[in-house]
Amino acid sequence: MKAARLHGPRDVRVEEVPTPRPGPDEVLVRVRAVSICPSDWRLYVDGHAGGAALSGPIIQGHEFCGDVAAHGPGVDAPPIGARVAVEPSWHCGRCDVCARGLTHLCRNIVFPSFPPRDGALAEYIACPASSLHPLPDRVSDAVGAMVEPLGVAIHAVRLSRLEAGERVLVLGAGVIGLSVVCLARIRGPGCRAAVEPVAGRRRWAVAMGATATAASCRELADAGFEAEVVFDCSGEDGALAEALPLAQPGGRVVVVGIPRSERFDLSAAQVRRRELTLIFTRRSRDTLAEAVALAADGDVDLARLPVRRFSLAQVADAMEVTAARPGDVLRAVVMP
Ligand SMILES: [Zn+2]
Ligand SMILES: [Zn+2]
Repeated sequence: MKAARLHGPRDVRVEEVPTPRPGPDEVLVRVRAVSICPSDWRLYVDGHAGGAALSGPIIQGHEFCGDVAAHGPGVDAPPIGARVAVEPSWHCGRCDVCARGLTHLCRNIVFPSFPPRDGALAEYIACPASSLHPLPDRVSDAVGAMVEPLGVAIHAVRLSRLEAGERVLVLGAGVIGLSVVCLARIRGPGCRAAVEPVAGRRRWAVAMGATATAASCRELADAGFEAEVVFDCSGEDGALAEALPLAQPGGRVVVVGIPRSERFDLSAAQVRRRELTLIFTRRSRDTLAEAVALAADGDVDLARLPVRRFSLAQVADAMEVTAARPGDVLRAVVMP
């Protein structure tokens, strides 16, 4: 099969590699669409991301959908030809953390696209059958790939224990931040502010349900804004520190994005004197069915978000668009 393999920073090559064979309890998926995540770009340009480093050539891509092409031993569903979305945190089901139900934090977690496991920027990928969920026909391939970041947003909102009427601040109007805005709107009435430096993206925050937007936290602070719950979906170093003054005393601050730096620089006085609760999230857990349903019903209308499509040979261009964050493209989507 053809695959886009990353050999080193900014060195991606389309190569002929063996088509994976689905093992026991696995399914071979013919990849239809791969949404490029900002974390993919980090690995692409830095050679490391979120604590994982490149050790040899790797196929990137963890937000994807496709068709069931073959069954491994012991598998008979979903049927051959079924369109499926994928939750890419693959757990062992045997360790103590899995036993506590925290399968996304499994001690033996496998995450396709992060070394050493190959991802989906290829014609085929083998996935555990348990990680798949059928995609209704009315969900496009591009949206089918974006239900993974929607799942990350669902997980973050669950952990925040957001209640109807609470004021919400979201940093970063990418797909995850916009999904959080939308999920907060679904939860009930309330004020939802989004901070996003790219003007074109602030427009999408309003479309997805933000009641206020600003280019910076300072702008909102000057207007006297405060929120019970702050979600940092920006992945920007320093964004969290800027947002802390906007968290109400007793508020919750949920860290969703992956900062480029390995250190958080927070004011001890700010977090302590107002007794803020900091909540860290990792990826998602058991969110796929809900994400597919929300996307299919249009409750979280990912289909309206602008994407730009690329071929497998254009992965480098897709990565650069992801880094450039133009106002008129929220996701680069590769159709292998
Ligand atoms: Zn992602
Ligand atoms: Zn486990």
